Amino acid sequence: MDRLEKLCIEKGMRMTDQRRVIARVLSGAVDHPDVEELHRRAHAVDPHISIATVYRTVRLFEESGIIERHDFRDGRSRYEETPDHHHDHLIDMKTGKVVEFVDEEIEALQNAIAQRLGYKLIDHRLELYGVPLEE
Ligand SMILES: [Zn+2]
Repeated sequence: MDRLEKLCIEKGMRMTDQRRVIARVLSGAVDHPDVEELHRRAHAVDPHISIATVYRTVRLFEESGIIERHDFRDGRSRYEETPDHHHDHLIDMKTGKVVEFVDEEIEALQNAIAQRLGYKLIDHRLELYGVPLEE
């Protein structure tokens, strides 16, 4: 059983075969697929899985906090398993490639800003948008 499937069961979700396939596809994804891409991958495993089922399932997973939705400004919601360790994203605007990174200085700086404004930071999102330096 993969990690996501286990989390679903821990959350008391009823696991149908189709949900299980979608959970596995999400667990196995190293990129940040959108619903259409998830459907393509799930459909390859079980041709009975409809795009509507994928939509409903990702919404359910998102609501239970086991996956995260991202908006990388291309008009499509992207999904990834909620990571154990926080990371931020850089989006290559030329290719759409998403690069994950962690920077301790940025993390510390964000904490400091929140504190200065009188808040304890509990979460943040940071997206960098760029094009490659060299052609
Ligand atoms: Zn990510």
